[in-house]
Amino acid sequence: MPEKIYITYNQVHKLCQQSADRILNDFRPNLMIAIGGGGFVPARILRSFLKRPGEPNIPIQAIGLSLYEDLGRDDPEEVPGTKVKRTQWLDLSSLEMSNLIGKNILIVDEVDDTRTTLEYAVRELEKDVREAQKALGREDEKTKFSIFVLHNKDKPKKGKLPEDMLAEGRYHAAITTGDVWICYPWEAKDIDEHDELAKQNKLL
Ligand code: 5GP
Repeated sequence: MPEKIYITYNQVHKLCQQSADRILNDFRPNLMIAIGGGGFVPARILRSFLKRPGEPNIPIQAIGLSLYEDLGRDDPEEVPGTKVKRTQWLDLSSLEMSNLIGKNILIVDEVDDTRTTLEYAVRELEKDVREAQKALGREDEKTKFSIFVLHNKDKPKKGKLPEDMLAEGRYHAAITTGDVWICYPWEAKDIDEHDELAKQNKLL
């Protein structure tokens, strides 16, 4: 069983805060796409730190992807699946897709484990935007994706991300961990117990 690391809401908040300036350095997101459920809370917190005075809030869209099959057990570790299941996706109407074309889009998730989910998200989003650009005759506009995760596990990855995304520094992980199991506060049934367990962790 992997070592369990407990993360508090406070730590999540500070990881988002610490990462915002790095993200903004060479990429100003116009739109965020949060991968649910783990990407929702980090995306909302991060938005507060990405906002610049006088500029509007960055809109957050949601997609739902699931790789792990819930076997109905009580322990937080779940058995990894091999296929990504779409539970929610973007509205692909031309009206909605035109909001993505030519934009800087930040994809947010909580953890990059095998990278299967992120590979799927980037590949499918790029494909849908490309198709919309073609349909709307806007192929000359450059749509750029970047990624933010709270934790990246330092391990061999099954999924691949585009070379240019990595080369141009459009992948951001607040923390790089070993191959541990991370327990996030939004999964806790008893948040006081969770916070107590977090105190016993080495600080992440
Ligand atoms: P990947 O596709 O990178 O293998 O896994 C991505 C998804 O698996 C995450 O979005 C998350 O739902 C789940 N996952 C993988 N590792 C962890 C972990 O250490 N803790 C939690 N809570 N979920 C994890």
